[in-house]
Amino acid sequence: MTKAIRFEKIGGPEVLELQDINLPAPGPGEVRVRHTAVGVNFIDIYHRTGLYKLKLPTGLGLEAAGVVEAVGPEVTRVAVGDRVAYASGPVGAYSEASNVPQTRLVKLPEGVSDDIAAASLLKGMTAHYLLRRTHPVKAGESILIHAGAGGVGMIAVQWAKSLGAVVIATVGNHQKIPFVQRLGAAHVIVSQTENIATRVREITGGKGVSVVYDSVGRDTFMASIDSLAPLGLLVSFGNASGPVPPIEPQLLSQKGSLFFTRPTLASYVSTPEELDTAAGELFALISSGTIRVRPPQKFPLSQAADAHRAIESRQTKGSLVLIPD
Ligand code: NDP
Repeated sequence: MTKAIRFEKIGGPEVLELQDINLPAPGPGEVRVRHTAVGVNFIDIYHRTGLYKLKLPTGLGLEAAGVVEAVGPEVTRVAVGDRVAYASGPVGAYSEASNVPQTRLVKLPEGVSDDIAAASLLKGMTAHYLLRRTHPVKAGESILIHAGAGGVGMIAVQWAKSLGAVVIATVGNHQKIPFVQRLGAAHVIVSQTENIATRVREITGGKGVSVVYDSVGRDTFMASIDSLAPLGLLVSFGNASGPVPPIEPQLLSQKGSLFFTRPTLASYVSTPEELDTAAGELFALISSGTIRVRPPQKFPLSQAADAHRAIESRQTKGSLVLIPD
């Protein structure tokens, strides 16, 4: 028997329950990973609330780090005893152990602890595709990153700074300003008290930014549009405040022939080669100290509901992880 967080109906954090589940032996191409740290991601909230639909009843969580405990037939990518992590499911990472297709696993280098891996793999590979592939950031370019103190934000701000960008970041409250400045943001806007687009125009001498990375969604969508320079790109990659309502293509022309994309990590790491490239670049930057991952806030696996309450409260900085009890 294995302990796992599961839920039978969508709702608030209280729907999450620790249950005993039967974990079968890993099948062909599958690997059983004994979890030492489980990543908490905002997508877990969307799954719990039903914004992104899962078939119920279900487990939860897409990301964990741990040790290979058993391998099924035809597994060649990892061996028993390897330290590994995964970040694109299968759903069910909020558990003591899980069976994972070998193609989704990466081996952990010595310089990256299990806690740091669980705190950074999903979020860091997201920062990788956003800054290196969706819109390759150039030195000297002014860019806007929302929720700069969050899990993805913490890594994205440092990564963009290391690429030479002038990073403008938003945060929800004043207490987060020093943290985001230390990460390398040149300018920090407090989204709940300041007019984001007005401040961005002031900072950029009226020009606007060439790209906005927006994970907040509904509350920041128009501010993001209004912060862009002509021909700028809005990358809408999350809905922390709620989903963005449908938009008229005409809006993009009126605001300066803007580009709009709504990407998701799964499309960017759909092959083992893409996964290894993204994870490899991330872990190299963490190992060299270019990206410093703040030690994650830890919760016992059984207290996953409290971790959800914390991340939804907008008071957290950096990442949260669950530790199997
Ligand atoms: P975070 O740690 O960044 O937490 C979310 C943050 O969003 C909060 O800390 C808060 O920061 C901000 N926020 C703004 N409005 C609200 C609101 N109404 N309720 C709650 N939070 C709000 O989470 P993650 O690092 O896990 O994820 C960040 C975002 O990136 C999420 O939207 C997630 O869905 C998205 N994402 C998308 C991926 C993709 O490929 N499309 C992959 C990974 C993540 P503040 O108060 O400072 O504004």
